[in-house]
Amino acid sequence: MTKWVYMFSEGDATMRNLLGGKGCNLAEMTKLGLPVPQGFTVTTEACTQYYEDGKKINDEILAQIMESVTKMEEIAGKKFGDNENPLLVSVRSGARASMPGMMDTILNLGLNEEVVNVIAEKSGNPRWAWDCYRRFIQMYSDVVMEVGKKYFEELIDKMKEEKGVTEDTDLTADDLKELSAQFKAEYKSKLGEEFPTDAKEQLLGAIQAVFRSWDNPRANVYRRDNDIPYSWGTAVNVQMMAFGNMGDTSGTGVAFTRDPATGENKLMGEFLINAQGEDVVAGVRTPQPISELEKIMPEVYKEFVDITEKLENHYRDMQDMEFTIEDKKLYMLQTRNGKRTAKAALKIACDLVDEGMIKEEKAVEMIDPRNLDTLLHPQFDPQAIKEAKELGRGLAASPGAASGKVVFTAADAKEWDAKGEKVVLVRLETSPEDIEGMKAAQGILTVRGGMTSHAAVVARGMGTCCVSGLSEIKMDEANKKFTLGDVVFGEGDAISLDGSTGAVYAGAIATIPAEISGDFGRIMGWADRFRVLKVRTNADTPEDARRARELGAEGIGLCRTEHMFFEGDRIDAFREMICSDTVEEREAALEKILPVQQGDFEKLYEALEGNPVTIRFLDPPLHEFVPTEEADIKKLADAQGKTVDQIKEIIEGLHEFNPMMGHRGCRLTVTYPEIAKMQTRAIIRAAINVKKNTNLDVKPEIMIPLVGEVKEFKFVKDIVIATAEEEINKAEVKLDYEVGTMIEIPRACLTADAIAKEADFFCFGTNDLTQMTYGFSRDDAGKFLDSYYDAKIFEYDPFAKLDQVGVGSLMKMALDKGRPVNDALHFGICGEHGGDPSSVEFCHEIGLDYVSASPFRVPIARLAAAQAAIKASK
Ligand code: PEP
Ligand code: MG
Repeated sequence: MTKWVYMFSEGDATMRNLLGGKGCNLAEMTKLGLPVPQGFTVTTEACTQYYEDGKKINDEILAQIMESVTKMEEIAGKKFGDNENPLLVSVRSGARASMPGMMDTILNLGLNEEVVNVIAEKSGNPRWAWDCYRRFIQMYSDVVMEVGKKYFEELIDKMKEEKGVTEDTDLTADDLKELSAQFKAEYKSKLGEEFPTDAKEQLLGAIQAVFRSWDNPRANVYRRDNDIPYSWGTAVNVQMMAFGNMGDTSGTGVAFTRDPATGENKLMGEFLINAQGEDVVAGVRTPQPISELEKIMPEVYKEFVDITEKLENHYRDMQDMEFTIEDKKLYMLQTRNGKRTAKAALKIACDLVDEGMIKEEKAVEMIDPRNLDTLLHPQFDPQAIKEAKELGRGLAASPGAASGKVVFTAADAKEWDAKGEKVVLVRLETSPEDIEGMKAAQGILTVRGGMTSHAAVVARGMGTCCVSGLSEIKMDEANKKFTLGDVVFGEGDAISLDGSTGAVYAGAIATIPAEISGDFGRIMGWADRFRVLKVRTNADTPEDARRARELGAEGIGLCRTEHMFFEGDRIDAFREMICSDTVEEREAALEKILPVQQGDFEKLYEALEGNPVTIRFLDPPLHEFVPTEEADIKKLADAQGKTVDQIKEIIEGLHEFNPMMGHRGCRLTVTYPEIAKMQTRAIIRAAINVKKNTNLDVKPEIMIPLVGEVKEFKFVKDIVIATAEEEINKAEVKLDYEVGTMIEIPRACLTADAIAKEADFFCFGTNDLTQMTYGFSRDDAGKFLDSYYDAKIFEYDPFAKLDQVGVGSLMKMALDKGRPVNDALHFGICGEHGGDPSSVEFCHEIGLDYVSASPFRVPIARLAAAQAAIKASK
């Protein structure tokens, strides 16, 4: 028979998956002999079972819960609903990974009027007894029966007003008794039934409510943001109450063994006298700093400090603890590895190494790679964000916080920025012509587009905050207006974006700048020692490449050459090339492009200091590059010696119903071999020059996109080799280069053995591979993914986190087919997943040689790669 329930004395810290974080640590503290009010944990498996059984606690689980209640009654020497010695308990959630504030808690369970009278009399403290009762009714109604808290808070406020007092603690026993009656009346009027008096009925209601809270909307969002699978479920902890609200010799509080904001090694915390847990959190009263406890109850303080030290030494990590003092007796209600800012995380990890508490390997494991984002980008002032009003959520496309005035065009963004205004660029979607405006903006907000849309990819590369695909926006670009929630924004109105969560706020919210400390370098240095995967970067400009290098990139895994044409008048030559209608015209345009590309490639090679540089041939979904504005069309017409109508006709002819699956990638070379020739010349000439001028060992890796058939690859490769050899012979130098392919079309995986015979390397383009494996448009999926989350079909965006089951199988297939055919073949990934920690772990497992991530994600990938290697070695 499955064991669904464990007494605290039956578990320990190794049982986190089954008992949840809170449950396993209560068990561990019990084992350490610390003062823990005893109780039991209903397992996470029971939660999963509850959902499998159609949201019911089945008889077997029920029986085990009841058995454990009896055991707890024996330990306590008290009984549920007893007239002599009544037992009161708390019921709290506790998942495997901590989800602060996401699920619900109920205190003082087991009370009814009779029991209140018993404890009032026994304790000689009727005020306390009635205070417990009114709190219980409030929490039970809110959590179990979903009657909003506010009704009860209104009644408390009314009572305080009538009695002419300001603090809850000033209400007398009679007042609280009266409040309890009012609360119960409120309960009855809202639900049409009496408030339950039977303790066991209350308990089951509460346990079910905790299970149910695993699926509440805020928990679902938190899980998605924090990579916590729905399938884990939450455990429920039922624990004997310790009362912090018994008067001035009682209290409750929370503490951290180190400062969770800065990492400073000093006990931090706060407490309230004569209060219960939720008062500290709710901010109804202002708590006192923990150091004050020394003055009020010196012995208790000393005991507490001893315990905090013991716990930190035991867990070898900063602890976040909850405690209650019941009539001068200290109880520990919780301990866990505390949540901390990225800055504190680095400091604590380094300090613990210096203090000899942990090894460097452990320090590397302790840092959540996703948190590093906050060190590299500005963040909202934590105080200011609390007061902000969230209007909606799009995709968290590029991290950081931004605040500025709304502008609707890239030109305005540039112009306002030049005047010293901070702006947020709001667009339906962005296109290459917006690039300078995107650079000038603090943040970018788009109505359309997914995690791999133009806005998302480009913003991430630049390190600019971006929220994409916020489809609830009603956009009126013509009148420079949009509506979100109930707010209408016009040009110049203040708006704030959080690119790390996707949230959008009205008004300006103060931000704090990014700050990298020396601890960052130490941790990164340790990470580099453990990892096996190389980390390259997706960089398209010499500037991005230099930044990525500073952040530790060991090569370029993807240079999207079409992105080199975003800026200035380069786009003109590029458009001329796209909109040519004869080979001669195209060659003339390519002639203009060649020196520009060559110059950029030289700078890329120099920035990478001899590390590998992979340059991908043009892969522009043409729709992203054709001019849309009348003035740009005119400019192009003039340059080509054509009429506006002729250009419009060409553009019309380029129109594709499905541009993402259209005339792009190697298909362009098949139709226009002259493009591949020009790019090969630029790549090879640049390499020859840099080799000559700097002595750097340059070995270009030429990458062919969107290959699905070996003959396609061979066709392009032949052009590359013929052109490259011509250049090399002409220059009379020796130069090695490689020709490889992106693997981003399912058919390339299915036929990887044939392709491997021809290619020097495979680089997985998991953006397109995901798009084509699922058949989801990478630009539009954002519009319907929310429904997929709601329906529990998906737990995450497959364009952000690799679908290891489907897309991952195709990747493995490509490796399995490719490896035996070609020993020298090397493997990488350059889709956006190359910067996502769980995807990096997968890449380690399947034995890729490198991952390639946008510059600001390079440190995340370095750390994730180290963690993957450490995990695999265990
Ligand atoms: C990819 O498809 O994963 C890729 C890296 O190429 P792009 O995003 O430019 O299509
Ligand atoms: Mg691609």
